[in-house]
Amino acid sequence: MPELPEMEHYKMLLNEKIAGKPVTDIQINREKSINVNPELFTNTVRNQRIMQINRRGKHLLFELQNGQTLLLHLMLGGFMFFGNEAEKPKRTIQVRLSFGDHHLYFIGLRLGYLHLLSTNEVKERLEHLGPEPLQADFTENGFLKLLNKKHGRLKTTFIDQDFIAGIGNCYSAEICYHAKIFPTKDIDDLNERYRRTLYHSMKVVLQEGIQFGGYMESPFFKGDQKTGNYRELCQVYDREGELCNRCGATIVMEEVSSRKTYYCPNCQQ
Ligand SMILES: [Zn+2]
Repeated sequence: MPELPEMEHYKMLLNEKIAGKPVTDIQINREKSINVNPELFTNTVRNQRIMQINRRGKHLLFELQNGQTLLLHLMLGGFMFFGNEAEKPKRTIQVRLSFGDHHLYFIGLRLGYLHLLSTNEVKERLEHLGPEPLQADFTENGFLKLLNKKHGRLKTTFIDQDFIAGIGNCYSAEICYHAKIFPTKDIDDLNERYRRTLYHSMKVVLQEGIQFGGYMESPFFKGDQKTGNYRELCQVYDREGELCNRCGATIVMEEVSSRKTYYCPNCQQ
């Protein structure tokens, strides 16, 4: 599932490609991917300019000229492509927003969605989310304060969107690896030095994820050389049985609350 760096990368690309442009046409092939009837959706969105694209946690917010918002969550398997009909991936398209002869394709939206909401509805929907980990006002002390209230496994806490927004399976594993701490560790067993290290690792790893275009497998447009470059940089995620780049030990996978959790049994503790 795309996490903060993937969605932040999409946000930047979308702002380059479609910000300020009007939606000239809408195609809805899967009504379950939206939240209102297709006619209302189409009538509300058509001819509206996308003013800007914002991100909150793993969500993207397409802000329309009329004050309405399209709230996107890709969930598991969802991705986007921007281009013309000849370039688009040979996949079933759930929703298509057109900008003249270029289109934004929403693909693999099985659990994912694109919901049309008012500003207040968006606020309500996102209210439960924890702080944005990369925001300047989310300080080390703020992080320590939040972590002090938490118990249980580190991994489980990191992927809790109400704790901190935007971190999932991949980056929680990479953050713990960077900090040299077991993701399976109980938070109560972490001393203050480790807690501060975790904060630092969280910032470094997420920023690196963004810098290298996240880990999505599909390019965002034809000729896209950046999207997904972080996949090559993953140190533990999805690398069970491979060797640790830091110490040479074999990376293991363990299920924590039925989530696959990857780590190096030798250089993490
Ligand atoms: Zn290692």
